[in-house]
Amino acid sequence: MKEILLCKYGEIVLKGANRRYFEDSLCKTLRFRAKHFGNFKIDRSQSTLVIEPLDEFADIDGMFETASKVFGIVGISRCAVCEKDMAAIEATVKEYVPQFLEGKKTFKVEAKRSDKRFPLDSMKICAEVGGYILSAMPHLKVDVRHPEVVVHVEIREFSAFIHAGQFKGAGGMPVGTNGKALLLLSGGIDSPVAGYMIAKRGVQLEAVHFESFPYTSELAREKVFQLAREVAQYAGSFNVHVVSLTKIQEALVKACDEDYFTLLLRRYMMAIADQLATRLGCGGLITGESLGQVASQTMQAIGVTDPLATHPVFRPCIGMDKEEIIQVARKIGTFETSIQPYEDCCTVFTPKHPRTRPELAKVLEQEQKLDFDALVKEALDGAYVEHIRTEF
Ligand code: ATP
Ligand code: MG
Repeated sequence: MKEILLCKYGEIVLKGANRRYFEDSLCKTLRFRAKHFGNFKIDRSQSTLVIEPLDEFADIDGMFETASKVFGIVGISRCAVCEKDMAAIEATVKEYVPQFLEGKKTFKVEAKRSDKRFPLDSMKICAEVGGYILSAMPHLKVDVRHPEVVVHVEIREFSAFIHAGQFKGAGGMPVGTNGKALLLLSGGIDSPVAGYMIAKRGVQLEAVHFESFPYTSELAREKVFQLAREVAQYAGSFNVHVVSLTKIQEALVKACDEDYFTLLLRRYMMAIADQLATRLGCGGLITGESLGQVASQTMQAIGVTDPLATHPVFRPCIGMDKEEIIQVARKIGTFETSIQPYEDCCTVFTPKHPRTRPELAKVLEQEQKLDFDALVKEALDGAYVEHIRTEF
């Protein structure tokens, strides 16, 4: 028996004249991922994408897994394909459908006939197929109002499709259809979630990670790359630019009032990220900030760092509780990596009494003790790039 995948897209259908562009982007992503799972044909057909294995070696389970992480798809049906005659449909229904009805009490059949030459109309197909299911699983009952399972039979141009359940897709928009933005990626819980959320809206990611070697370790950096690989399962491949803040932090410690360390450092991060975004052609920055979560994320503290950005700063976690962010982190598989205890450059040289209501004038007074622009330039010039590939 041959199984295929039917992918339904979400907001793409609202795109009118641009729809083709969104569909092409989605097909391109799926074709790229499919290469890893064998020989597949991927085509659009009647506002769905059809993923069809072309030989027996094609790994349909693997393809299903990966397609459920592709943004732009809202639902995926696994679907058996057979000849367009009732005997073949009966055999396929009896072989394929019971797995979806196990432990269930009620079902109904819905039929669609896009090939109007097919001798039975939709009503008759429903009645026949309902009969096949009842004879194979007599404990079931038909419930047309609130069935637990809906079995779909579609008579299409070349074959009949039978499916019994739609699985949730990743939602959102195809990556790359909504520009590119630079994610400030730490080793924490929040920033990988923030990257995932913005990529979901169709944005291609670039990332910057700040480290402070030797105060932060090789292992801390490796953890960030691992997080990036996990995000890339959804967001697709992207680059992580690693920037050292060691010199800046050592200069801050020597010259500035300890209470302002974190804020000053965050202003450097914002300035460096902003200039890097410009170099990379990114239209925005992304952070994992959540209002009031820590001293550097009060409204006043954000007010001190935000003016350094000349690009819009997207903060998708801003209104989320930690618990809500953790829920997303668990869903996308980054949580376990994030909680591994490695140091971050923000956690070395942390002040005992960080300013929670900083005044910009006081921060600037501290900042003027150092050559801000020269330090930013030097840090940027020392950056190196790690390419992160989508792993399957
Ligand atoms: P996260 O869980 O994402 O680390 P956090 O709650 O620890 O966030 P902060 O350390 O205050 O919060 O950082 C706020 C945001 O600043 C992060 O979400 C991230 O976008 C950015 N950021 C912090 N540290 C780094 C870093 N070392 N490299 C790149 N970006 C960073
Ligand atoms: Mg952090």
